Amino acid sequence: SFPIVAIDGPSGAGKSTISRMLARRLNFTHIDTGAMYRCIALAALRRGIDPEDEAALAELCERVKIDFKRQDGQQRVILDGEDVSGEIRTPAVSLLTSRVSSVAAVREKMVAMQREMGREGGVVLEGRDIGSVVFPDAGIKFFLTASAQERGARRYRELREQGHEVDLQQTIDEVISRDQADSSRQHSPLTQAEDAILVDSTDMTIEQVVEMMARRVRS
Ligand code: C5P
Repeated sequence: SFPIVAIDGPSGAGKSTISRMLARRLNFTHIDTGAMYRCIALAALRRGIDPEDEAALAELCERVKIDFKRQDGQQRVILDGEDVSGEIRTPAVSLLTSRVSSVAAVREKMVAMQREMGREGGVVLEGRDIGSVVFPDAGIKFFLTASAQERGARRYRELREQGHEVDLQQTIDEVISRDQADSSRQHSPLTQAEDAILVDSTDMTIEQVVEMMARRVRS
């Protein structure tokens, strides 16, 4: 049978790019769980659901359909048949995602959905709690990180490339405060599973990280 590859870590460590490349390399399916939480936030926003309304959010999770589709070599995120790949990355949705992802009922539903998607193996799942909560028995677990300084600098370059006027130190400070929020929340805080392989990408290229991970998966 095919293994489940779990990749967890803070934002800005290169998780998405690396997970996508690793999945392609192994010919596995890539499941971006952050995108799934973002879909719930977007659906809640569109329907005017109060992010404090746990029952309404739980019901929403039951009703929406989230799919991943590969198109022209790109991973598209499909919410109820609509391509929302761009819309789930807007600042408004990002902000709301942190709130809805801290709701216990939402996490419960999403974890169940992720287990269903990954049950046959041959998947690379990326997130914050894959190796610790979603698939504690995953065949191989990585915890991907980089210094806050480096993650902030990467985010800064990315934003500049998109034409945004941003300040480097402020971007680094935002990375640090998001880390604190993600690791101190009550339900499923970001934690490194005991048996996860720690990968510090601070001084590595993306290709080096993918190469190293692919080797560990195959061995
Ligand atoms: O990975 P990404 O930045 O797209 O994730 C968006 C947000 O979703 C994160 O800031 C985090 O709060 C939440 N998330 C989560 N659990 C996951 C994946 C993402 O709580 N497994």
